[in-house]
Amino acid sequence: MGLITKIKHSSHSEHFLLLKRPRQPYECDGCKVLGFGPCYECEHEDCNFYLHEECAKATPSTSHPFSKCSLRFHSRAPQKGERCCDACGQHVLGFVYQCKHKKNPHDYHPSCLKLQPTLTADDGTRLHLRKKLSSKCLNCESRKTSNGIKGWSYVSSCGGYRYHVACVKDRVLKKWMEVYFLQDGKVNETDNSLALQSAIPSRELELPSRKSSSKAKKTWIRKAKKAIMLIISALFGDPTTLIVVAFQQLLSD
Ligand SMILES: [Zn+2]
Ligand SMILES: [Zn+2]
Ligand SMILES: [Zn+2]
Ligand SMILES: [Zn+2]
Ligand SMILES: [Zn+2]
Repeated sequence: MGLITKIKHSSHSEHFLLLKRPRQPYECDGCKVLGFGPCYECEHEDCNFYLHEECAKATPSTSHPFSKCSLRFHSRAPQKGERCCDACGQHVLGFVYQCKHKKNPHDYHPSCLKLQPTLTADDGTRLHLRKKLSSKCLNCESRKTSNGIKGWSYVSSCGGYRYHVACVKDRVLKKWMEVYFLQDGKVNETDNSLALQSAIPSRELELPSRKSSSKAKKTWIRKAKKAIMLIISALFGDPTTLIVVAFQQLLSD
């Protein structure tokens, strides 16, 4: 990122925001979801004001191949009551794209609408974004997510590795809240890679019974972990040094 990008945004109009790669995970002041990829940060560090790139650049209306509805941007969901994102299942607490259906409108976080249709790992493993699962998610062993939302999923080309976006996001957020963030909302700066690693299922991974040799099992687990890391980086931003380090530790054994 050689070029410095500086913008003003209506949600924090008193200062300029700079496009930066943050040193630590942040909570986006637009959508209230955690991120750690490049983001717009207030030039005054004391403000601790962050916006996802997708939130800063939200347009008044948009569309997505998975939704027939046209979607309008709102800085707060206009409909009252609990709202969840139809892509990731997390609560909608701020910036949202919502369709104009009066009853049960569709809601999407701005960053979720920008999820890449295909993710490719360095070993050639490919994951494809799907609106629905045709087989169970390997994390929750269900086709629906835990809160009943038919959220989006990533599925490998071979079909063997399938994870709800909601499941991966939920795991990472819960672990980060536990380990990375202290109770009072202050950041614990020492334990972030630990939190990230503990968000990766290892023992809990469901192993297909036909994979009997220990070598086949190891390969399977390694690929499943890789699939999850790919989804994590798609969800929360480009892999930072932090992630790469955790990644290497995970894959070395
Ligand atoms: Zn955001
Ligand atoms: Zn500021
Ligand atoms: Zn979402
Ligand atoms: Zn709709
Ligand atoms: Zn799941």
